[in-house]
Amino acid sequence: MKTAIVSAMHEELGAVLALMPDERRQPVAGRDFYVGHLHGRDVVAVLSRIGKVAAATTATVLIERFGVDRIVFTGVAGGLRHGVERGHVVVADNFLQHDLDATPIFPRYEVPLYGRSRFDTDPALTHRLAGAVRKALPGTTLHRGLIASGDRFVSTTAESRALQLALPDALAVEMEGAAVAQVCHDYGVPFAAVRTISDRADDDATGDFLQFIRDVASRHTAAIVEAFLSA
Ligand code: SAH
Repeated sequence: MKTAIVSAMHEELGAVLALMPDERRQPVAGRDFYVGHLHGRDVVAVLSRIGKVAAATTATVLIERFGVDRIVFTGVAGGLRHGVERGHVVVADNFLQHDLDATPIFPRYEVPLYGRSRFDTDPALTHRLAGAVRKALPGTTLHRGLIASGDRFVSTTAESRALQLALPDALAVEMEGAAVAQVCHDYGVPFAAVRTISDRADDDATGDFLQFIRDVASRHTAAIVEAFLSA
C-alpha cells in the first residue's frame, strides 16, 4: 500500500519530509517527488503546486508513474460558510469547481461529459482522515462537507459573499482539491483531503497568510499526517 501525501505549500511539505527518515528525491515533470517511509509505511510526498492544472498533473504522475494506491491532500483554505473560522479544520466529503461555467450547453458548475458537478472523496479514507484530525488536534473545530476549488485566490469580501450566495453549502474555498478529486475519480484511486482554514477569503485574507502557514498550518499538517499513518 503506497500513500501519496500532497501539500500545497513548501512549508507544509517541509513538515512532512521532517517525519520521513529515508526519502529519495525523484524529479518528474519539473516536480520533486520524495519516495520513502513515514511510520514504516510507503509514502510519496510532493508539492501539488498551486492551481487546478498543476494539481491535476501532480496527481496523474503520482498514479501513473509512482503507482500510489491512495492520495491524501493537506493544505490551507479560505473559510466561506458562516462559522468556518481561521484555525478550524475542514475534511472534504466532496469538491466542486466554482469557476467552471459551460452554460448554456451544460448546467453551471457541471463538468462537461461527466454529468455531474461534484466529485466525492473516498468515504472510508475520509472517515479515517477525520479520525486522525480528532486525535492529532483535540479541541480543534472540525467541519465536514463541500469544498469549492477555483483558479483564484479569493481575497475580497465581495467575491467571498458572492460565492457564499451561489454555493451556500460550501464550507471553504481553495485552488486544487476539485482537480485532484476528478483525476482520482477517473483512475478509481481513493482520495481524501484536509484543509486548515488560514483566512476568511475576505479583504483581510492576505494579511499574515504566510506567517499562519509557518506557525499553524505546517504543524497541523505534520500532526494529522502522523496520526493518519500511525492509525
Ligand atoms: N498569497 C499567497 C497565495 C498562495 S495561493 C502567497 O503569496 O503565497 C493560496 C494557497 O492556499 C492555494 O494553494 C489555495 O489552495 C489555498 N488558499 C488559502 N486561502 C485561499 C483563498 N482565500 N482562496 C483561494 N485559495 C486559498
